[in-house]
Amino acid sequence: MRWTQTLIPTLREAPADAEILSHKLLLRAGLIRKLAGGVYTFLPVGVRALRQVEQIVREEMNRAGAVEVLMPAIQPPEIWQQSGRYETARDVLFKVKDSAAREWVLSPTAEEVITLIAAADINSYRQLPKNFYQISVKFRDEIRPRFGLMRAREFIMKDAYSFDTTDEAAQIAYQKMYDAYTRIFARCGLKTFPVEADTGVIGGKFSHEFMVPAETGENEVVYCEACGYAANLEKATSGIPKTAAREIGASPEKFPTPGVLTIEALSKEPYKVAANRQIKTLVFIVQDKPAIALVRGDDQLNETKFAAAVGTTIFRAATADEILAALGARPGSLGAVAATLKSKDIPVYADERLRGANDMTTGANDDGFHLRNVSIERDITVTQWRDLRTVIVGEPCVKCSNTLKIRRAIEVGHVFKLGTKYSEKMGALYLDEAGTRHPLVMGCYGIGVTRTLQAVIEQCNDKDGIIWPLSVAPYQVCITPLNVAPDNAGMQLAEKLYAELTAAGVEVILDDRDERPGVKFKDADLVGFPIRVSIGEKSLAKGEVEIKPRGGAMLAAKIADALERVLALVRE
Ligand code: ATP
Ligand code: MG
Repeated sequence: MRWTQTLIPTLREAPADAEILSHKLLLRAGLIRKLAGGVYTFLPVGVRALRQVEQIVREEMNRAGAVEVLMPAIQPPEIWQQSGRYETARDVLFKVKDSAAREWVLSPTAEEVITLIAAADINSYRQLPKNFYQISVKFRDEIRPRFGLMRAREFIMKDAYSFDTTDEAAQIAYQKMYDAYTRIFARCGLKTFPVEADTGVIGGKFSHEFMVPAETGENEVVYCEACGYAANLEKATSGIPKTAAREIGASPEKFPTPGVLTIEALSKEPYKVAANRQIKTLVFIVQDKPAIALVRGDDQLNETKFAAAVGTTIFRAATADEILAALGARPGSLGAVAATLKSKDIPVYADERLRGANDMTTGANDDGFHLRNVSIERDITVTQWRDLRTVIVGEPCVKCSNTLKIRRAIEVGHVFKLGTKYSEKMGALYLDEAGTRHPLVMGCYGIGVTRTLQAVIEQCNDKDGIIWPLSVAPYQVCITPLNVAPDNAGMQLAEKLYAELTAAGVEVILDDRDERPGVKFKDADLVGFPIRVSIGEKSLAKGEVEIKPRGGAMLAAKIADALERVLALVRE
């Protein structure tokens, strides 16, 4: 490709709304342009890098035995109702209406569609196992699209879905995808590490996320250097001890606490109730109904864990009025002691750390009063015990009791064991050898292709711009003649090298712009081509060209050796 033929609109400064380095570089290197928040056009060089990532993903999916399909981007809402996700995934679903006012869902993922295919076209154990994947545009109505391609409204995802006869067979499919992901990210030049993850609204039993360590990542990962335990903070647990049991009185005792509205206030004079002897009561509205979450006074509720407990992400903190209506008191005096609850139907989700706790203090559901001597298992009707608290750095590892650390990371891929959640709902059954029907056992596997591309930039750059790994570079080599006049010997050599490298299968761009050398070098560095070959008068006079690996030292090569030297670098 000739530079003047394509469009690489480099910018000296990034637009003000680009917050993180990789987003700035995508814009400055002329790879993408914003159409609207979270909606981007890929310009020619951006498309080339994207296709490289896609190609790696495709090769590894094929190698792992998955087969490619292509599913529609517009889906009827009925299939989302059938799976139950029309409600539970409501917050991310983009909906559009056609001219007959009929509603459609823009695909954020495709479990429903592929499960219906399996329901219709897979009938027998003889057809199994199967794994289908696609690489396609996905739409999500993200509350806060940001960081360029990292969290977009429209993005490209590879999604794969495995179908098996048994849990054991599904485990093999899961492992194959896990291994394929490890290879994919390594081939993209990315350092990633797998972590245990929440299964979210996709559901299922078990999942891992592939994380790229980065300060700008939206995820926090809890990890142990000693044993290798690693989990998303949304899911992580620690080996922190439960609340110590104590002797207590026969029943809760109400005492006045005028003006005390916080855990902290109650921990001070004259009450002096340590935060770790208090129960924090949080009230949420979950799909229009109140629900209570309890954690210890010194702990923080983890909302992702709470979402997993209630089975939906559609919840919000209750307002003061809603709390008053449900519990009869205002925030500051709330509690879940059964005898003080107006309604017995409000579910109570309690954190495991409170199990067995007694001599606790909590609100009395009477403004200005608390209860002491509370024994949680005696006095509170717990609907569900769950791990609900957020792990804190420095706590002991749940596996080996070494000290836990936390770091930020970007999630680029996610593998799930789904079990039979979708196959049961959508009637995807198969007949076993004995002719008995069973639901297919599923897994699903996503890679954010566009997010992965940006993660590569986030990890591979320097002050001058992007440093593409050869595997995903939009062009592997940039030839930069300093004089582009057609009759110039340097330009003629550039043309010859361009033709020879192209014939050898190398992706080359020839910078045929009539620009100052400084401008050309700066642009080549900014866009990040792995190898630059410059041809100027001075080196030509010595019978040489200059070869510069991006981020490495300049090498002088004899003209006759130039082709071989570049090929050797490309094949390295
Ligand atoms: P996140 O927690 O970042 O919202 P998710 O759990 O919703 O991700 P999945 O549903 O597992 O993501 O989707 C698979 C992959 O698609 C993710 O690992 C991520 O790489 C990518 N992805 C998800 N949402 C977006 C988005 N809004 N923009 C770009 N890529 C995304
Ligand atoms: Mg999401």
